[in-house]
Amino acid sequence: MSIFLGLLSLIVSILLPVLILFFTGFEALHFSIFFIIPIGALLIGYICGYGYYKGLFKSNVFITGRHYFIGFILSLICIFGIEYTSYMFTCINPQTMEIVYTLDGDHVSNYYSEDYGQLDFFTYKKYMIENTPISFSYKARSIGDISNPTVGWVFAIIDTLGIIIGCLLAGKSQKNHPYCHTCKLYKKEKEILNFSKGDGLAFFEELESYSSQDTNDLSINTLLSPFTLDESLEKEEHFLCTLIYCNSCKKASLKFELYEFNSKNKLEINTDFNYLIDVNYDEIKSFISSTAIA
Ligand SMILES: [Zn+2]
Repeated sequence: MSIFLGLLSLIVSILLPVLILFFTGFEALHFSIFFIIPIGALLIGYICGYGYYKGLFKSNVFITGRHYFIGFILSLICIFGIEYTSYMFTCINPQTMEIVYTLDGDHVSNYYSEDYGQLDFFTYKKYMIENTPISFSYKARSIGDISNPTVGWVFAIIDTLGIIIGCLLAGKSQKNHPYCHTCKLYKKEKEILNFSKGDGLAFFEELESYSSQDTNDLSINTLLSPFTLDESLEKEEHFLCTLIYCNSCKKASLKFELYEFNSKNKLEINTDFNYLIDVNYDEIKSFISSTAIA
């Protein structure tokens, strides 16, 4: 499955920027924001790795360094694929001597540069990297073009790194799923409830006493029963509780995340807060079996 999905998304990641270039002339691969963040390359890289890592997740393979290495190779194939396919229909308009992307024009390989020689694939790429002016703009105002071989190579390297990092991030996002090493399965995850930040202190005190007791006088269900997944809470600061469980070995835990307003007044997960507690699978079963929670 991972091989099939991996090839599929590799092909998509190559064809997508190539088709955009062919039909609009826009180089998605070189699109960046804030001067140097290669957002286009990161996105293409993410698409490139997505299928492969999704396939590993679906086949319950625990993602390790070996898989990241394969992702690295995939991203190199992706870069070469995009560059080579684009090159295949790079033509020169004889009237204007400008580059056009078409299938029936005068191919660039028929041309010759004084400094570079015949423009085959590698010399053409070298020529383009070293001679394409890079435009800098700030708040939609152009602040100048720079055409300099060193700058050209720096940006080519940034784009390459963008694809590699994008691809590895696709792996990271799948690896974030909790894994049961005993059963060699990815665990299931289900958001079961939330409560406002203000209720947190009292809640976690009770939860602590639940986990520290030897006999189970206090049921986890009693503790959780006042809460549901309340949509109205999603706009204010709150805790979100996710049930993580393995149906095979009957182990379950609860993960709590804290959503707080950041300096821009946007809700975001407070990464300093993480709380994970093991709970009794049988006690928590009602949450697993209920398909929809109001
Ligand atoms: Zn298990």
